[in-house]
Amino acid sequence: MKLSTFGRKFTGDSGTRKLMDDLGKAFGSTREMINLGGGNPSHIPAVEAIFRARLSVLLQREGALERVIGDYGGPAGDPEFAAAMARLLRRELGWDVGPGNVCITNGSQSAFFALFNLLGGPCDDGPPRKILLPMAPEYIGYTDVGLAPELFVSRRPTIEFLGDQLFKYRVDFSGLELTGDIGAVCVSRPTNPTGNVLTDQEVATLRALARDADVPLILDDAYGAPFPGIVFGQVRPVWDERIVLCMSLSKLGLPGVRTGIVVAAEPIVQALSSVNAILSLAPGRFGPALVMDLVESGDIIGISRDIIAPHYRGRAARAVDLLREELAGLDVFLHRPEGAIFVWLWCRGLPVSSTVLYERLKARGVIVVSGEYFFPGLEHDDWAHKRECLRLTYADDPDRVERGLRIVAEEVRRAYREG
Ligand code: PLP
Repeated sequence: MKLSTFGRKFTGDSGTRKLMDDLGKAFGSTREMINLGGGNPSHIPAVEAIFRARLSVLLQREGALERVIGDYGGPAGDPEFAAAMARLLRRELGWDVGPGNVCITNGSQSAFFALFNLLGGPCDDGPPRKILLPMAPEYIGYTDVGLAPELFVSRRPTIEFLGDQLFKYRVDFSGLELTGDIGAVCVSRPTNPTGNVLTDQEVATLRALARDADVPLILDDAYGAPFPGIVFGQVRPVWDERIVLCMSLSKLGLPGVRTGIVVAAEPIVQALSSVNAILSLAPGRFGPALVMDLVESGDIIGISRDIIAPHYRGRAARAVDLLREELAGLDVFLHRPEGAIFVWLWCRGLPVSSTVLYERLKARGVIVVSGEYFFPGLEHDDWAHKRECLRLTYADDPDRVERGLRIVAEEVRRAYREG
């Protein structure tokens, strides 16, 4: 098979592909694998019961299911769902959002593909534009979606030590400049992989920088407010027409329905709809139909606040306690979990790379993700830190997670001792 440049890029060695393959194997294997790897959300029985109930309502409503599965929707998704989402955001957060500000995509991952390639890459009106990620580590899923090479630029964060083996990354604003070749700024908040949540002040500064440069600020809200709301402290959700907010139903517990929800200025929604039409004619209708009533009633926010956030908060605390205990005395630090579903482990001065650690753990039946994939835009920076980190998720069954974390700690300890 002779592949095009696109073909070579999309079939090459990609972290996202490796991650999803590992996830598939973890779920499909006959040998028990402990999955601390992919970003699958927990199966939370109380939430699953709600989805089951919504599905049976959908089944009982005359003709409802047939419309959802038997008709294409428009390229921006169902207008009724967009209107319900806009009403929810107006009511709950006071944002000046209308139905024309909402576009549905087949998962937020495909929204990022569209957005990054709409706003970055070769341009008719000047030199190629780039997407600025104000700091890395940042989400692995961005790394390979650019059609143009070297689409991302990023920067090292500053590292603040918080005591108790905890640290926090902060955006290093010194010298952060939005040069004319930047087409958009993007951050995940909460951040996958670190569990960091950018402070309100950091977001305000990024908004000001993006506004001055007249480029959109893309906020990846896959874990954030108002749903699934996996944020452990108080932060202010923000939106205005200069922000492109990318939400998702996945971490609510619905990754299989592939529904992303983008809230943005109308020209961006129109552009995304065009990409939807070309790539997939129309986004899937099942996810929006399943949660429509929860959006109308606002229950989607109550479920997030009362069930989902406390679930992950408890899991995060347990994981941190266990790792602190098991790793005591080593030069290992944990990013303070402020949201999302991960612990980010930094093994300072580790004698082997995180990839070696990943392979050793896989051989012991534990899937993790090596940290090196989470530095999009820093490919040319030979920063030892990139090879010293692991991402671990605590979303899986708690006993399995505990066993897995103990094995991770054993292997980390062994690596420091024996190399
Ligand atoms: N953004 C972040 C930060 C994520 O962690 C994920 C998935 O793990 C996504 C986006 C993509 O989510 P989905 O395509 O399932 O909506």
